[in-house]
Amino acid sequence: MSWETVIGLEVHVQLATRTKIFSGASTAFGAEPNSQACLIDMAMPGTLPVVNHEAIRNAVRFGLAIGAKINQRSVFERKNYFYPDLPKGYQTTQLEAPIVGAGEVEIRLEDGSTRTVRIHHAHLEEDAGKSLHEDFHGMTGIDLNRAGTPLIEIVTEPDMRTAEEAVAFARKLHALVTSIGICDGDMSQGSMRFDVNVSVRKSGDPLGTRTETKNLNSFRFMEKAIALEIRRQIDLLEDGGTVQQETRLYNGDSNTARAMRTKEDANDYRYFPCPDLLPVEITEDDIEALRASLPELPDARRDRFTRDFGLPDYDAEIISASRDMSDYFEQAAEHAGDAKLAANWMLGEMSARLNAEEIGIGKSPVSAAHLGQLIQRIKDGTISSKIAKQVFDACWQGNGSPDEIIEREGLKQVSDTGELEKIVDGIIADNAEQVAAFKAADEKKQKKMFGFFVGQAMKATQGKANPQQINQLLQKKLQD
Ligand code: ADP
Ligand code: MG
Repeated sequence: MSWETVIGLEVHVQLATRTKIFSGASTAFGAEPNSQACLIDMAMPGTLPVVNHEAIRNAVRFGLAIGAKINQRSVFERKNYFYPDLPKGYQTTQLEAPIVGAGEVEIRLEDGSTRTVRIHHAHLEEDAGKSLHEDFHGMTGIDLNRAGTPLIEIVTEPDMRTAEEAVAFARKLHALVTSIGICDGDMSQGSMRFDVNVSVRKSGDPLGTRTETKNLNSFRFMEKAIALEIRRQIDLLEDGGTVQQETRLYNGDSNTARAMRTKEDANDYRYFPCPDLLPVEITEDDIEALRASLPELPDARRDRFTRDFGLPDYDAEIISASRDMSDYFEQAAEHAGDAKLAANWMLGEMSARLNAEEIGIGKSPVSAAHLGQLIQRIKDGTISSKIAKQVFDACWQGNGSPDEIIEREGLKQVSDTGELEKIVDGIIADNAEQVAAFKAADEKKQKKMFGFFVGQAMKATQGKANPQQINQLLQKKLQD
């Protein structure tokens, strides 16, 4: 019998609030160490936490976006442990009464099939600081800028069965939290971190012992770390060994992982309700107001893109996964008067450029209005698709609107039949040998040779000849 994999995820999502969850210090990334840690974040005696309402609203928004039960009363607890970057000696988190109860997220796999991943709950908590090892010799530096950054931790049921499903879930979560605006989604800065719990079993058996690989911050590493861990567990079990429940660390550079510590039980942490914070109470009205403030969610947008814009599933799935892409697409499609072409350009030329420069579409130098205009000029025959790439480039460089560029650089397609006929006649006269060979060849060979003449015509017009007309003219003249 073959092995079945079981995966459950715990995901830390950094909430995009301006200030921390229990203090007024800024959450902005990249500041000088400890310049954004106030007395509360540094755990000075006598300070008291004040809860950030925006963090609470963000957690509720997430719950509503996944159709989860919102707990109108939730409680902050202290999770006690020692760590150099945790000066309080405990993390303020939620355990018994988390703010978001059970919900569901639907994922779609490459083959178009769907799965439902159940969410066990999501709770609010604070992030710890950071230990810095570089630049210090025989010492560790402590940076408390991140201490107190608001997080939600989302815990799934063990519902995923393959690495592909886990990654599809992670991507869907990313799409959700960024589209409702509660997280900036910047994984390279740690805004979303995934802990993957993996076990294997023979199908039909009870769940096997799991390991937890912590803090994966890219979809690619997640996929690789899962594949590695599945292999390790199966090899171990097939050799007659047993899997230890433990926490593991994955190294993306070497694609290896190592055991970090054996798993603690919850009671090792001596959780208890934080006496400094009142329970969080949320009214029906608060919840309804937040529900009303939610934007259209990625799945609804995807369905609308296929239904109203006629986009293929694949295009709609990719575009709807990002709110910026979706907004851009809707504008570009309107300006272009052609949704499919707008999507093609976005997923082709545009994405290649954005990836190369590592920027999001929100920073694209080619605006949606300009892309729309460019597509219009292809559709109305002003420029060929080939020249359009050149215009796109120039527009990306900031050389003006497509219309300005076409005008200034004289890129209008030559569609004047008289002019094109002259060019074709010239090519036929200049290439008597090839014309003779063409006429003597059979149909199959002719097909191959035809491209030569088209190429010459394009060369003569610097790519500006209308390709359909050139084809027609050449067909006619070469048969004469
Ligand atoms: P704990 O109470 O030890 O934190 P939980 O039951 O809360 O454990 O599960 C933590 C995470 O591990 C959840 O995401 C859950 O889906 C996942 N998980 C639990 N058991 C397994 C298992 N046997 N295999 C894979 N994942 C599991
Ligand atoms: Mg648990």
